[in-house]
Amino acid sequence: MNCNLLFASGNLQPIARQTSRFTFYILKPQLSETQRSIQNVARTFAREEILPAAKKYDQTGEFPWPLFKKAWSLGLTNGHIPAHCGGIEHGLFTGCLVVEELAYACTGIQLALESTNLGQTPLYMFGNNEQQKKYLGRLVEDPLIAAYCVTEPGAGSDVNGLITKAEKKGDEWILNGQKMWITGAGVANWYFVLARTSPDPKSPPGKAFTGFIVERDWIGVQPGRKEINMGQRASDTRGVTFNDVRVPKENVVGGEGNGFKIVMSVFDHTRPPTAAAATGLSQRCLEESARYSLERRAFGVPIAQHQAVSCMLADMAIGVELSRMAWMRSAYEVDNGKRNTYAASIAKCYCADIANKCAADAVQIFGGNGFNSEYPVEKLMRDAKILQIYEGTTQIQRVIIARHVLETAMGIN
Ligand SMILES: Cc1cc2nc3c(=O)[nH]c(=O)nc-3n(C[C@H](O)[C@H](O)[C@H](O)COP(=O)(O)OP(=O)(O)OC[C@H]3O[C@@H](n4cnc5c(N)ncnc54)[C@H](O)[C@@H]3O)c2cc1C
Repeated sequence: MNCNLLFASGNLQPIARQTSRFTFYILKPQLSETQRSIQNVARTFAREEILPAAKKYDQTGEFPWPLFKKAWSLGLTNGHIPAHCGGIEHGLFTGCLVVEELAYACTGIQLALESTNLGQTPLYMFGNNEQQKKYLGRLVEDPLIAAYCVTEPGAGSDVNGLITKAEKKGDEWILNGQKMWITGAGVANWYFVLARTSPDPKSPPGKAFTGFIVERDWIGVQPGRKEINMGQRASDTRGVTFNDVRVPKENVVGGEGNGFKIVMSVFDHTRPPTAAAATGLSQRCLEESARYSLERRAFGVPIAQHQAVSCMLADMAIGVELSRMAWMRSAYEVDNGKRNTYAASIAKCYCADIANKCAADAVQIFGGNGFNSEYPVEKLMRDAKILQIYEGTTQIQRVIIARHVLETAMGIN
């Protein structure tokens, strides 16, 4: 077995132990001055402004516009927009640092503030200059939001099962169909929409779909009612109907027939932030639980002195530290031009599972109080669940990870 030192510069210093087929990384984060300062801005904003407001937005389900506008003005929402559109272009790793901080305070508000990045990602990865200037530039100029419309009532994990379609008529496409569970649908200025464009039902997914930019105000675009979800209630989730919507050909993203590939590539950029959000929630569970276990007494001592309780804290700490390493590796790979599908799925899957375990254990440590909405941890448990569902379920992540492992074993990767 050879020992190599790889990637000796940059944010991270991964010490890679390379076998013939697999590479293992040990990550040691070294944040730059700029990263530390953005992280501090996000941390202060999260603790001073999001945290005190989280309960209200959870209860009312109102969209947190004042917080969105403040986050936008602080530069916390559009970090990866390219410089030629007026953006900061600070990379995925820095974006994830921000997400983890905001998610610590409330993953619902964090999603409401940051899900615009999901709508933007197909454009900054595959959009042409004009599209980027017009639609990403718009988000830098004003506090506006983009949304990402892929899932439908009949198909989520199985993207090839989508039936929303677009037909070419002269210089336009006519879009018809229904999307479901779209984050930000009711508040977005424009959407990225995936539609079937091949009339041939046997067309392979890699050629059958096209991505479009669709403006919210165009005739025929109709967002549905706000869905009442188990958690992350500050985030706006709706269906959207497209009824004979006329989309100019200039709004095709990445070329006709390339929509499926775009959507699959987008996941590589959007799963690391979801993993970072899960890490923020886990960190919060750990801190709330540690504090409570020092205050709450049972059998004459603080419950922290009961080994069964302290072991739950230790497990949470292990999960938090490893979650952070997982999202960091997956984001680092993107920023350094490496394909990160495998690392992104591991991060998304692991961090989401850990967040759910941490939240359930936090409720356990709080005992009866944990089950009550006067204490913070029942919300954390409700908020955590969706992390195992959106951005690809934990089952789908394991399908991707297993495929990579087997392809590596067969010498395909
Ligand atoms: C709050 C919220 C916000 C969302 N935001 C967005 C958004 O902004 N944009 C967007 O496009 N979508 C969004 N989604 C949709 C989300 O991505 C999907 O719900 C998710 O991908 C799962 O799809 P599904 O709900 O259709 O479940 P299904 O695909 O029907 O899956 C049901 C169950 O079957 C399992 N399953 C399916 N296929 C397999 C398989 N091959 N192997 C093993 N198990 C499998 C799944 O893991 C799951 O447990 C959001 C959803 C929610 C609830």
